[in-house]
Amino acid sequence: MSPARKRRRWVIAIDGPAGVGKSTVGHLVAKSLGYRFINTGEMYRALTWKVLEENIDFRAAGKVARLAKRLKWEFRPTEEGTTLKTTLDGEAVTVHIRDERVSRNSSLVAGIPEVRRFLRKLQRDLGRDGGIVMEGRDITTNVFADAEVKVYLDASIEERALRRYRQLKASGHEGSLDRIQEGILSRDRMDLERKINPLRQTEDSVFIDSTRLSLREVAQRILECVRERRRGLSR
Ligand code: C5P
Repeated sequence: MSPARKRRRWVIAIDGPAGVGKSTVGHLVAKSLGYRFINTGEMYRALTWKVLEENIDFRAAGKVARLAKRLKWEFRPTEEGTTLKTTLDGEAVTVHIRDERVSRNSSLVAGIPEVRRFLRKLQRDLGRDGGIVMEGRDITTNVFADAEVKVYLDASIEERALRRYRQLKASGHEGSLDRIQEGILSRDRMDLERKINPLRQTEDSVFIDSTRLSLREVAQRILECVRERRRGLSR
């Protein structure tokens, strides 16, 4: 039986490098389908923030993994209802996780196999009944390798840095474009080169280069893929 027949509501998996617009696009797609949306990068960032708070050495993989397991992880819908936001021990993490120190160190935390296994379980639980758009680096390859629709989103490094710059500015953070570009490149490198669940495009993912598309147009393309797949299955 194909995975699409097992779940009435689907899992839409989106992967791609940093700053490519996965969250904006994922949210638009989820809203249009009446699905939930979750950005799994937030989970790695949330744990990174806690590691910094508790002054744990990032190289102490066992300690970082134990911290992950000790925390109470919850995913609560925002007021508008589409997006699920991470809370740790009851505290919303949103305001803490965009900090540059968190960004810089999140790929270190993401390289710890035990942490990845732990978070994958939480992610699979969230998508068990489908009806979710999930984005990250290993959703199409690992977390939901059986997702009904898989997308790999990419864009030029210049465009990605510019988008991140504008996004930060809009949320009241200043940053230099050069430094943002450097940060993105270094995270890409770690995400592509790590041994466990590196960022990869699967053969069955739809590739979308969003360099010259608006994020709304990208969302439309994904929705078109969803419709096509449904038509294919109902034939
Ligand atoms: O998506 P975002 O850039 O906020 O993710 C922060 C970091 O979390 C990434 O650089 C990556 O190292 C890690 N990550 C991951 N697997 C995911 C989502 C994020 O390794 N599924």
